Amino acid sequence: MNSVLAARGLVKTYGDVHALAGVDIDISPGDVLAVVGPSGSGKTTLLHVLSGILRADGGEVFLDGRAIGELSETGRSELRRTAFGFVFQSGMLVAELTAEENAALPMLLAGRSREESLGAARLWLTRLGLQGMEKRRPGELSGGQAQRVAIARALAHRPRVVFADEPTGALDTRTGQEMMTALLQAARDTNAAVVIVTHDKAIADRAHRIVDIQDGRIAVPGQVPA
Ligand code: ADP
Ligand code: MG
Repeated sequence: MNSVLAARGLVKTYGDVHALAGVDIDISPGDVLAVVGPSGSGKTTLLHVLSGILRADGGEVFLDGRAIGELSETGRSELRRTAFGFVFQSGMLVAELTAEENAALPMLLAGRSREESLGAARLWLTRLGLQGMEKRRPGELSGGQAQRVAIARALAHRPRVVFADEPTGALDTRTGQEMMTALLQAARDTNAAVVIVTHDKAIADRAHRIVDIQDGRIAVPGQVPA
């Protein structure tokens, strides 16, 4: 099939806790998937296993049909830098770096030239309405602006899938919605799929699909009307 990312029978346990108890998922290019569910239900674990940050104890994750569990730690970390982008709740920008350096970081780490990386970063900052703020450090940005830098950082290397773990959790409702609009637009521009964990129903409702995780399992896969 046409999945960019797929998972079959994912299991992850911590002692007696079944953080993931058999999850199947198929994500197509351009798909926007919201992952919801109570605290402790396994949402973050699912994101980490899907993105190769954590290795599953059972089951397998496939990127373009290739099993990522078979990759070495180096191979998975390479994958994270090239195929995936990440947006976290907040505070995950490097305080000492400017906005453009933060946005360029994944490309620099992947070995692209400084010129190419900063060029792509500046382009994305402009697209995200941050023109003129390229040289600011995170401490000189509002929460919403910092999250736009995080979106630029997640998208500048044109990943196949962007993972966001409660990216609006530290923002007020309106800024959170604006951030979601910016993220969805950026993903649409690059045909990246988006997997976003959120507690906010108004944010989840903007996804194409909602995946409800309960006790490490998908509870009610639902289709949201377009
Ligand atoms: P969510 O993101 O939905 O709040 P998590 O995926 O973080 O949930 O956690 C799922 C379950 O796994 C919880 O019971 C949590 O306590 C447990 N868990 C997660 N990470 C660890 C870890 N590193 N060590 C032990 N238990 C963990
Ligand atoms: Mg979590």
